Amino acid sequence: MQLTADGAAADAKRQVPATMASRKASTLFQRLSADLASVCPAASNGANVRCPLCLGSFARKDLEAGSLTEEHIIPKELGGTEITLTCKTCNNTQGSTLESHLVRMLDGERALNAGDRPIRAALHVAGHSAAAEVIWDTNRPAHEIKIIGEASNPLEIAGIHDSLSKGVNELSLNLHFRYVPTYALMAVVRIAYLSLFDQYGYRFAYSDGPSTIREALRSLEFGNFPKLVGRTRNQQGRAPLPVMLTHAILFKSFLVHFVVIQINTPIRTTFFVAMPTDDPRSPALFANIERMRELLNKCRITLRF
Ligand SMILES: [Zn+2]
Repeated sequence: MQLTADGAAADAKRQVPATMASRKASTLFQRLSADLASVCPAASNGANVRCPLCLGSFARKDLEAGSLTEEHIIPKELGGTEITLTCKTCNNTQGSTLESHLVRMLDGERALNAGDRPIRAALHVAGHSAAAEVIWDTNRPAHEIKIIGEASNPLEIAGIHDSLSKGVNELSLNLHFRYVPTYALMAVVRIAYLSLFDQYGYRFAYSDGPSTIREALRSLEFGNFPKLVGRTRNQQGRAPLPVMLTHAILFKSFLVHFVVIQINTPIRTTFFVAMPTDDPRSPALFANIERMRELLNKCRITLRF
């Protein structure tokens, strides 16, 4: 059989695996695999990486098969571009769950401050209920409540209308921000964990303090770890992209990582996260979270670009 140039190209195309790992992911795999072999030879077979969140072992072929995935350290939806490699389970279940709470929290705050998107709500009047949207525009003297016809029972809407016509002047609104604050904060802790892993590799992941954080993320048993996150709004200095900066600071008698994550929603949110280091004394951070929290809440920094 004679192949034309076109036929050869078509054949070559057919051999491309279903999920093509990006060049960035391949380079990352190589770097992480070498790091694992040098830092934790017992966890390495010379050609594998470990998921930084569950420590499961993955080969390069898993990248093509899709069981090892590229994960954005700061969610793509929040403008993140940096990636690391995590397994499909950690990325899709734990990652997406926590991330969605963070995205909704920031979305809700944006809706309350910029008024550029509606807040879902339930409107109750004299025993009748309807689905509604609230536009909270701080730049205008009036805010708007809109009943969503398609999402409501027409009889209920008629009941509300009737009650208001008869002079009922009491209404109640339940705003649905649809996020759990501790989940949103743990999404930030997860970002800090992945950014430190990206920077320090398996030396960080395999040490005691970070293991405790990882276990909390895996089990969704957060304890007081959400208190490792402080935040401030309208911080001076605006980054063109989301930023992550990590520093090691001396806290009491041990080193703590201090991770700054700035996300540019219109209200520009800066999170400060205290994280354990690979210092064997760093788990002492967990016994001093309240003191650390006071410090985090006083943080102010100026970012210059
Ligand atoms: Zn995993």
